[in-house]
Amino acid sequence: MTSTNDIRRSFLEYFGGNGHDIVPSAPLVPHNDPTLMFVNAGMVPFKNVFTGLETRANARATSSQKCVRAGGKHNDLDNVGYTARHHTFFEMLGNFSFGDYFKEEAIHHAWTLVNKTWGLAADRLTVTVYHTDDEAFGLWKKIAGLPDERIIRIATSDNFWSMGDTGPCGPCSEIFYDHGDHIFGGPPGSPDEDGDRFIEIWNLVFMQYEQHADGSRTNLPRPSIDTGMGIERIAAVMQGVHDNYDIDLFKALIAASGQATGTATTGDNQASHRVIADHLRATSFLIADGVLPANEGRGYVLRRIMRRAMRHAHILGAADPLMHRLVPTLVAEMGQAFPELVRAQPLIEETLEREETRFRQTLDKGLRLLDEATADLAEGAVLSGETAFKLYDTYGFPYDLTEDALRSRGLGVDREGFDTAMAAQKAAARAAWKGSGEAASAEIWYDIAERAGGTEFTGYTATEGEAEV
Ligand code: ATP
Ligand code: MG
Ligand code: MG
Ligand code: MG
Repeated sequence: MTSTNDIRRSFLEYFGGNGHDIVPSAPLVPHNDPTLMFVNAGMVPFKNVFTGLETRANARATSSQKCVRAGGKHNDLDNVGYTARHHTFFEMLGNFSFGDYFKEEAIHHAWTLVNKTWGLAADRLTVTVYHTDDEAFGLWKKIAGLPDERIIRIATSDNFWSMGDTGPCGPCSEIFYDHGDHIFGGPPGSPDEDGDRFIEIWNLVFMQYEQHADGSRTNLPRPSIDTGMGIERIAAVMQGVHDNYDIDLFKALIAASGQATGTATTGDNQASHRVIADHLRATSFLIADGVLPANEGRGYVLRRIMRRAMRHAHILGAADPLMHRLVPTLVAEMGQAFPELVRAQPLIEETLEREETRFRQTLDKGLRLLDEATADLAEGAVLSGETAFKLYDTYGFPYDLTEDALRSRGLGVDREGFDTAMAAQKAAARAAWKGSGEAASAEIWYDIAERAGGTEFTGYTATEGEAEV
């Protein structure tokens, strides 16, 4: 079996062997973009190189970048445990050309790696191109020999990427793997595209235009390439499993969670174990990169993720704090590729244990209140925003934890009511607050930006059609 660690090595070796600098993952907290909460794509650390603000000696680079998508425009938190392909924390393998090679070589490398080097069968692969991108269509035909019906033209923003309101932008091309007709779903662009049969494994972005403030677009003198492939998704393909949560790495984490709680990992428990395994990775990597649980900003996103996992530990009936006991397994699986995890292990374990011990003191009471408040609600009803806010304020329940807790019962939460209660409390706190520290206002900014979706860099898909947090 090709392990996830082997796949990372193989990807970096392939591009390293083709003239790319192998660049270690940047930390999850972006150093070059104060408006972005967490690095959410492989290109983020290279943003200034793409815009020309910075130069690198080598115009080619490759990396396996740590990413978190648990807030802002790119929020996959609610998908975790419920889709086969989403994580809050994942690794994005990528190759980048800074004004060096362009479309033809990018497609050539992608095809050589997946089909020739890794042996993915051509008849399992479908690609998309932006509807007007005849050049990419022709190149897929020429290089990969794909039949016309498996080069799908897509007109939506899914296949047009831009860095922001201005700056580099261009069409993209996504590679999908067909996991077989025993799984529900249709090819991209079809009515059933949201199913899990065709899974996007790799996204190639062709940065060929410059978007100007006046709305016009000009050709970039030296077009660039940015690609991103989720390592967990390609590992699923190469390990012959459909679901990301069945790859070697997740199997080990889920087994550890099953063992530590003395519970089966299948059936009704499956989603809980998946959430725990996923959130363990996100929290551990965030702590290793210097984020600590807090009530606002990045630290609050971390706390939200942790507490959500802790509620699932509670569902499984864990008698004692669980999360910190799983850290050694994570370090065993990923510590070699990410030495920061080894260095931070004691801090991660202490932080998780302290946080879980504390949260368990109010979790029971909060869940009881939640049960009482929802006892008379029929399916499809919503919990009042005030109750959700009380759970937040008194019992430390992040909003999305309440939402997650009600989801399986078909109940919703009144988000507007919650926001109103929160805003009222913040206004009162601000009126009472005498300090004037800059740090505090930055924290508040993040909080607002996160709620509003903000000006955050939106990854490979444009903002259109993306659900707000
Ligand atoms: P999807 O449409 O499946 O949500 P995406 O188009 O949002 O994916 P991109 O922004 O194109 O994803 O990111 C590049 C690659 O990173 C994807 O092709 C996929 O392999 C991987 N990826 C994206 N989001 C996640 C996630 N939440 N968990 C795991 N892998 C992901
Ligand atoms: Mg997505
Ligand atoms: Mg997509
Ligand atoms: Mg994509």
